[in-house]
Amino acid sequence: MPLYFFNTMNRSREEFRPLKENEAGMYTCGPTVYNFAHIGNFRAYIFEDLLRRTLKYFGYKVIQVMNLTDVDDKTIRDSQKAGISLNEYTAKYKKAFFEDLAFLNVEPAEHYPAATDHIPEMIKLIQMLQEKGFAYKAEDGSIYYSIAKFPEYGKLAKIDMENQKSGVRVKTDEYAKDAVADFALWKAWDEKDGDVAWESPWGKGRPGWHIECSAMSMKYLGNTFDIHTGGIDNMFPHHEDEIAQSEAANGCRYVNYWLHCAHLIVNGEKMSKSLGNFFTLKDLKEKNFTGPEIRWILLSAHYRKKLNFTFEDCEKAKALLKKFADFFLRLKTVEKAGKISDKMSEIVKSAQNSFKDAIGDDLNISEAVAALFGLEREANKLMDSGEITKEEASLILEQFKDFDKVLGVLNVDGQEEKIPEEIEELAGRRQAARKSKNFAEADAIRDELKRKGWVLEDTAKGPRLKKIS
Ligand code: AMP
Ligand code: ZN
Repeated sequence: MPLYFFNTMNRSREEFRPLKENEAGMYTCGPTVYNFAHIGNFRAYIFEDLLRRTLKYFGYKVIQVMNLTDVDDKTIRDSQKAGISLNEYTAKYKKAFFEDLAFLNVEPAEHYPAATDHIPEMIKLIQMLQEKGFAYKAEDGSIYYSIAKFPEYGKLAKIDMENQKSGVRVKTDEYAKDAVADFALWKAWDEKDGDVAWESPWGKGRPGWHIECSAMSMKYLGNTFDIHTGGIDNMFPHHEDEIAQSEAANGCRYVNYWLHCAHLIVNGEKMSKSLGNFFTLKDLKEKNFTGPEIRWILLSAHYRKKLNFTFEDCEKAKALLKKFADFFLRLKTVEKAGKISDKMSEIVKSAQNSFKDAIGDDLNISEAVAALFGLEREANKLMDSGEITKEEASLILEQFKDFDKVLGVLNVDGQEEKIPEEIEELAGRRQAARKSKNFAEADAIRDELKRKGWVLEDTAKGPRLKKIS
């Protein structure tokens, strides 16, 4: 079955044809580890996870690379504010990032290269650009990319280069489309950088943000690779600059398919740290939303459509996943003997085909999910009239596990949720308080547990923690 993606480069839906048969190389711009990621960022990472899982569902071996930007204007600024070293500062947010990915059931990438571990590769790439005449040194010792030397500059963001002034420079990593300019490849050290600096042929300094991704994608995926993704805000200048650097240095096409997701918005505005309108996973956990519920919300709108975040939708996701959990339980209670009928095989096969067709069509999630609802409705009807056998119920459950290889939200086996450390600790403290007859404290801890969505049930084997559904 062919797989289709909307390629931002050509603004068109195209059949996916990988460079190597049955293998897909994919580069995804990762987090700048200067703070906790917010759920807007996770919309991008979940879209990429859906893409990765879809490629696997279609039989591809995926080599995914996600970089960690652990040196840039923001990480330097905030580590200095905190009065600690850059490494110490970013380590905390790297750790939190991986915990968050696990909480959202995002499959790990094959490589997570950190920028600070690849400075020699970046220096080498800048040297190549200099040798080929695409880079020049400015008065302060910084090295800039000359966009006038690369006639195709602007081809991704569709910028009309005719009316652009040449020789204008920008040193900051982020700038708007109307500020098209030569951008920094290597930033000469200045006092603001403190002790963050590496030796280079141009003196002490540090890399620009864009060169990180060109150098690291090249190292792990080669000069040309299949897929590059990110949020739509990455398209300009970041991805445009990556193309300019990589194609000028290597003399070949950088990426075959560019995929960008639209933003998660709140009241019509992009969720972002700078606007302060963001929620982290911690915020949502405190409101008792689970990983699957948050994943469902971020997953359930097509990746190229803006997604408006509301707590109403969080509640709807909760109810919906509960409905699926009840449905799976119901299927597990079917005892009727008998073989799988042709009619049932047909129903299940057709649901799988619709699902695969839809998800393979540029990740059409709404239609893919409609296939799940259709199968659920049909199965419930047949259970109502007692027409399903135990074997057929198992077949349906297996099909939902198959859907979940792509969706990663259903928990068909009904495994109990892992109890967070903090909850275990509170439960332990409550037991201790009860033992020492400090009932006021025991009750206060019980209330706190309840607020966090857990109850302690007394069982024959002692108290047991249970999630409030
Ligand atoms: P950053 O850490 O700002 O470099 O962003 C990491 C990733 O999250 C990038 O791919 C961004 O495009 C993406 N991103 C940031 N804000 C949002 C948002 N509100 N909705 C979707 N993606 C976002
Ligand atoms: Zn990048």
